[in-house]
Amino acid sequence: MTDRYAVFGHPIAHSKSPQIHAAFARQTGQDMTYEAILAPIEGFADSVASFVATGGRGANVTVPFKEEAWKLADRLSPRAERAGAVNTLSFDADGITGDNTDGAGLVADLTGNLRRQLAGTRILLLGAGGAARGVIEPLLEQQPAALVIANRTVSRAQELAALFGDARLTACSFDAADSRFDLVVNATAASLAGELPPLSPAIFTASTLAYDMMYGRDTPFLSFARTHGATTADGLGMLVEQAAEAFALWRGVRPDTAPVIASLRT
Ligand code: NDP
Repeated sequence: MTDRYAVFGHPIAHSKSPQIHAAFARQTGQDMTYEAILAPIEGFADSVASFVATGGRGANVTVPFKEEAWKLADRLSPRAERAGAVNTLSFDADGITGDNTDGAGLVADLTGNLRRQLAGTRILLLGAGGAARGVIEPLLEQQPAALVIANRTVSRAQELAALFGDARLTACSFDAADSRFDLVVNATAASLAGELPPLSPAIFTASTLAYDMMYGRDTPFLSFARTHGATTADGLGMLVEQAAEAFALWRGVRPDTAPVIASLRT
């Protein structure tokens, strides 16, 4: 019987995940389907339960259900436990296992596709929401010299930094981040609204990579960073890499992401 997978979100029509997983399945010869499911805002758990009851084997979870998925899981991977959010569910006879592949996806895009070494670098992470929280541990594992979280609501950045208890991790406001960084990751939702966080141009040099987790359009953040000499990248590579990590967890085979990223870019 063909195995069923899905992505749950609200909204979900824009999701590229069905296209990505269909490409992975073709490439690796896996007999599976992958659909997009619009779960009601108040009905995520019920929606997942009916998917499992009708043969669902695994699912991705996107906005706004990642924290609910974390609570729903019977078991969590250590990285999902720390992230406080789940984007990948696996269903078996023992129940629901939750994982978080967003951070691994970002690191794979940065170090693999974009060929950036992160050891010894200074990283500025903008935002303190679910996406930011999910990437902190995987970024720290790359041994940067410093990881600074800057957020509009400074107390949220401070809480996040305290949660991880790592001397390299500090928090500040946007305007207090005013020295050079090797990597600046925009994990705020500002780009969704076409807005630019109030950043100092001093954070960018010609060797800085400015990375926006948002994908599919040029953002005020990327344009600002380019104007101040930085190299830029959007989050499409992260999206495909987090999907590849989920696919490998479910199917035990790792797809080649490069042709899938290239085809989405065209
Ligand atoms: P959350 O809603 O959890 O967090 C939002 C964050 O953005 C908060 O830190 C908030 O600050 C900040 N923020 C919101 N609006 C503004 C603004 N106008 N100016 C400055 N800061 C602002 O969102 P997520 O963390 O889930 O997602 C963040 C982004 O990451 C989204 O664009 C999402 O699409 C993207 N993403 C991309 C992925 C990929 O695979 N490429 C994967 C996951 C996420 P405050 O605390 O002050 O409210």
